[in-house]
Amino acid sequence: MAYASTTMIIKTTRDIIIVSDIDGTLMDHEYDLSPAIGTIKWLQQLGIPIVLCTSKTAAEVKVIRDFININDPYIVENGGAIYGSNPKTNEEWELILGRCYRDLRDVLDRLSNDIKFQLTALNDLGYKDIKKLTGLNDSQVTLALDRHWSVPFLNPPEEYQLILNNYLDLYDINIYQGNRMSHLLGRNSHKGKAVSALKKFLNKSGSSIIALGDSPNDLPLLEIADQAIVVPGVNGPNQSLINDLMRNNINYILAPAPHAKGWSFSIRKLLEEYYL
Ligand SMILES: [Mg+2]
Repeated sequence: MAYASTTMIIKTTRDIIIVSDIDGTLMDHEYDLSPAIGTIKWLQQLGIPIVLCTSKTAAEVKVIRDFININDPYIVENGGAIYGSNPKTNEEWELILGRCYRDLRDVLDRLSNDIKFQLTALNDLGYKDIKKLTGLNDSQVTLALDRHWSVPFLNPPEEYQLILNNYLDLYDINIYQGNRMSHLLGRNSHKGKAVSALKKFLNKSGSSIIALGDSPNDLPLLEIADQAIVVPGVNGPNQSLINDLMRNNINYILAPAPHAKGWSFSIRKLLEEYYL
């Protein structure tokens, strides 16, 4: 019986990939993901990969992967690059999709001139201000500043955010607004493009993507998912993201609890109902 059940699970779950945002989705705003640990272990037992897909840097994600003990590929800097290792040889690989930091940092200065408002890159702030803004400690800040493919900057006042949208074509960029700050990226790199590139690289074009996110920078990820899951915060879901999803006619499941708790519940319910 156990054998039959195992065979069925392998047969029905082998082509699923979970792709998850980290901040606000898998982790709460205190960077706690402990309510998801049991579900992460359960997914590993089922052989379902968990691809972390985040605005964080590779240096930051490595620490989280070690903590939760997963070896699956990971997407960093909002889709700027993908990293992984060959499970047989342990040889590491990388796929670069983004524009380099120096180039994007130059664009941020040009944008400041264009909109006549000084945009402030996260990397230009002192440790004290970054710690206050992010709640990270000194060593975590060092990892967060190890940027190569995106420029996070302080959210400007709302009127300037709207004006910035007029310059996206001119500089061939995208700007995604997260909960704490905005992210400037080359137009060829976002979370959705990164997932498509990863599937192609792994020769898994037929795999089903279950994607989880919490804010508008996750829209490109939720758009390309076979099943999108929106994870709310303690005060409910991000309304801009919900509006974007509705405007684009994207079906989604709203997790019934915030952060890691909702993450775990939604994944278990979905897999138990439709795949296991
Ligand atoms: Mg997030």
